[in-house]
Amino acid sequence: HADIALYSAKQSGRGNVCFFAPSMDREVRARRQMEHDLRLAVQRHQTFLAYQPMVASASGEIVGYEALLRWRHPELGEVPPEVFIPVAEESGSIVQLGEWVLTAACHEAAGWAEPLTVAVNVSPVQFQLPNLAAIVEGCLRRSGLAPHRLQIEVTEAALMRDPEAVRSIFRQLKALGVGIVMDDFGTGYSSLNSLQSFPFDKIKIDKSFIGALEGDEAARSVVKAIVGLGRSLNLAVVAEGIETEAQWRLVVEEGCPEAQGYLFGFPEVSRLTPELPPAAAAASRRQGP
Ligand code: C2E
Ligand code: MG
Ligand code: MG
Ligand code: MG
Repeated sequence: HADIALYSAKQSGRGNVCFFAPSMDREVRARRQMEHDLRLAVQRHQTFLAYQPMVASASGEIVGYEALLRWRHPELGEVPPEVFIPVAEESGSIVQLGEWVLTAACHEAAGWAEPLTVAVNVSPVQFQLPNLAAIVEGCLRRSGLAPHRLQIEVTEAALMRDPEAVRSIFRQLKALGVGIVMDDFGTGYSSLNSLQSFPFDKIKIDKSFIGALEGDEAARSVVKAIVGLGRSLNLAVVAEGIETEAQWRLVVEEGCPEAQGYLFGFPEVSRLTPELPPAAAAASRRQGP
């Protein structure tokens, strides 16, 4: 069967796959098996969404949730997205998986008691679909979710292949009233250029900068600069990957308006009842820093 260790080693890019000494044959078979299993994952009800809260930095109050795809494989257990998303992207099944994510996230969010935002990650591969905006529109219509409650998170990789086609999709999404977020900001090749040439509404400071915040003046300068950039370009800014009170205090001091991270809540499954996901309770009990 598909071998997670094998993929993890490959994904980590350390080139140490040979450490496991797999035969080429075994590697290829494991990969094909995972591709095959991924294609059937939705219809076999192995996929679900976990929601992680996003909070207003100053108060800790929840303003929305990010939907994160989970895959529970009958033999492998929960396979991390870092492992299966690249396989789904290369084999094309991300198109069907991504549509399921959009449908499920809109449907679940439409049932929440409070009209909070829901952020959905959309793969660069999905941005090659000329009908992506129509797919999003269909999900909104069928779920009844107000378009302004939906945010689409994209990484810079999505902008690279065919910028004009992507610009057109962005325009259509904006016309629907959907928000567009640049995820993992600061890790791409030309983040600044992308920001001025695509109509983003929000930027997410990559968690690598947040992780380095304590005791690293340079990381702090980067956060300060991104917050300033957001202010002058009139973009919302989120700091992702906040794990400690000290990191929270620092992003508040730098004036970063929103935050997300394990400190405020882990990704958790949404209850089907029209209530907030469970993380809401814990996070909303928190006081400001
Ligand atoms: P992302 O969109 O940047 O999501 C943030 C990731 O950081 C999530 O990992 C989340 O669980 C994790 N995280 C949140 N808070 C913290 C923290 O305080 N510390 C640390 N160390 N990590 C934190 P996850 O759920 O494993 O997802 C990993 C990546 O997989 C996502 O990164 C996204 O790129 C991709 N992904 C997840 N769901 C989907 C999906 O539905 N569609 C697509 N295309 N990609 C997805
Ligand atoms: Mg994201
Ligand atoms: Mg991110
Ligand atoms: Mg990421």
